[in-house]
Amino acid sequence: MIAMPAVVGIGGNVGDVAATIRAALGALDATDGIRVVAVSSLYRTAPVGGVEQADFLNAAALLGCGLDPVALLERLLAVEQLHGRTRDVQWGPRTLDLDILWYADMAIAAPGLTIPHPRLHERRFALQPLVEVAPTAIDAHGTPYAEILSGLPLDGVTVVTGPSLVYDPS
Ligand code: ATP
Ligand code: CA
Ligand code: CA
Repeated sequence: MIAMPAVVGIGGNVGDVAATIRAALGALDATDGIRVVAVSSLYRTAPVGGVEQADFLNAAALLGCGLDPVALLERLLAVEQLHGRTRDVQWGPRTLDLDILWYADMAIAAPGLTIPHPRLHERRFALQPLVEVAPTAIDAHGTPYAEILSGLPLDGVTVVTGPSLVYDPS
């Protein structure tokens, strides 16, 4: 299969999250059929969803992806497992969350997989890193994500470090 551009959103708020994000990107890059092409800055973000919990670290990675979307999701869930991901409370604390935010302008609505990610357009913590690595990505209506991002409130999301300190794909 030809490599398709895909953006994965990465987050966590339990443990040494920066180290976990780096290790997860290494595991994805080492996967047959996946290449990490670019990585966003690292962001500190306030939790959303109403659960009282620690701030998150978030980033996004642009992949060159030879796996189809279902196989990519399976790999993401496996890498989460390697880092002790549990699902106790919806939108609660986690070591590592890997979501497919966007996959080559495709729209998929299947049980267990929706692409683009259904809550992407309302989440600055996901959209801002996505726009950093895929500035021309558009949603299902043809609206650039950069334009959607510019309409979201600025609060709750700050840059911690630039991309080179997160993971060097070269
Ligand atoms: P949210 O989806 O609001 O970001 P979450 O990431 O905490 O919440 P999870 O418990 O990690 O939710 O995922 C629940 C399920 O969502 C996964 O098992 C997966 O099947 C499904 N899912 C649907 N679309 C996607 C997607 N684009 N990326 C990742 N998982 C998805
Ligand atoms: Ca998520
Ligand atoms: Ca998830």
